[in-house]
Amino acid sequence: MNELLNRLQAGLDALDAQSLRRRRRTVHTRCAPDTDADGQPLLAFCSNDYLGLASHPAIVVALQEGAARYGAGSGASHLISGHSLAHAKVEDELAAFMAPHLEAPRALLFSTGYMANLAVLSALGGKDAELFSEELNHASLIDGARLSRSQVSVYPHGDLDALEGLLRASRAQNRIVVTDSVFSMDGDIAPLPQLLALCERHGAWLVVDDAHGFGVLGAQGRGALEHFKLRSPQLVYMGTLGKAAGVSGAFVAAHDTVIEWLVQRARPYIYTTASPPALAHALSASLALIAGEEGAMRRARLNLLVTDFRAALRLKRWRLMPSDTAIQPVCIGASGTALAASAALQRGGYWVPAIRPPTVPRNTARLRVTFSAAHAPEDMQRLVNALRLAEEECDAN
Ligand code: PMP
Repeated sequence: MNELLNRLQAGLDALDAQSLRRRRRTVHTRCAPDTDADGQPLLAFCSNDYLGLASHPAIVVALQEGAARYGAGSGASHLISGHSLAHAKVEDELAAFMAPHLEAPRALLFSTGYMANLAVLSALGGKDAELFSEELNHASLIDGARLSRSQVSVYPHGDLDALEGLLRASRAQNRIVVTDSVFSMDGDIAPLPQLLALCERHGAWLVVDDAHGFGVLGAQGRGALEHFKLRSPQLVYMGTLGKAAGVSGAFVAAHDTVIEWLVQRARPYIYTTASPPALAHALSASLALIAGEEGAMRRARLNLLVTDFRAALRLKRWRLMPSDTAIQPVCIGASGTALAASAALQRGGYWVPAIRPPTVPRNTARLRVTFSAAHAPEDMQRLVNALRLAEEECDAN
């Protein structure tokens, strides 16, 4: 074979040898707990559809209406001719929704959360900037930090003292602290009030990636800022719209001046085709549900599932990690055992993915259980039993 292909094949073989090869399963159904992957019916505990809105009839109808009104594609980037009325409307709605937590709020829509994070960090950072990045931040923040060409200082998970030391020592004019709110592979929540206080003391921005909080945390679903009742002109908030909101995309909400800077300078905003307006139209419908009674009811149902799961699950050696959110990881350790556990669950009809390095640190491979308001309490109970059986099966082998 060609030498270049040989090199890739050797890399793939090495992934196999370390139980790190990933494979996709093809889903034949819409996003829901009762799913079908590669033709096998499975009860799924792996989506980020926390409120069960991905298949909500009102949102599906809005998507159809949006397509009928605006067509399939936007045709151009936002700064050329792709910025539609539907985009403008949902941006205004998102800004109004987040207004209790920001000064002079304005929101900007992005095609994905990954791009939003690249945009924020590359446009706010730069050679005169120092970025203070939490150890467990999402890959998109790590990549955004690299793209920004800022000096990057990583602080240990949740370690406010270490962060304060770094801020004190910094000579950079422009300081940016950046953190996930809910850590995507752990489920715990960053100490945002203390982080914001530090930022305010040291004249730093606080960039919060609330991918797993928006729609879920806070009485009205405004996310981590509402959960902690925070408000500041130094906050830059990123919420994703493909998880609890059930559609696709992301938004950044911040002071009007920050957002105008992103419009002028953020390359992942400027140099890409605007997402289909129909998606923005569907997002307006989703936001109305999140902010209304239905959202509150779904958040309550989700919280009850999480509390009951934690109370019911009894494992011998595997460890349920501390988390109050919909992300409930069970730490196993070795990648091979985590894969075997996931396979045992699959044989029993459950879909719980094994998360392995490099997504998580070495020797902390885990099953990442996620709950959705679309799960019934019986689904949760069945999973509790299945996890116990899977642990016994893996111990026996
Ligand atoms: N931030 C975090 C913490 C995430 O978990 C994700 C998605 N896994 C993203 C950003 C990226 O969002 P998107 O999927 O919309 O690109």
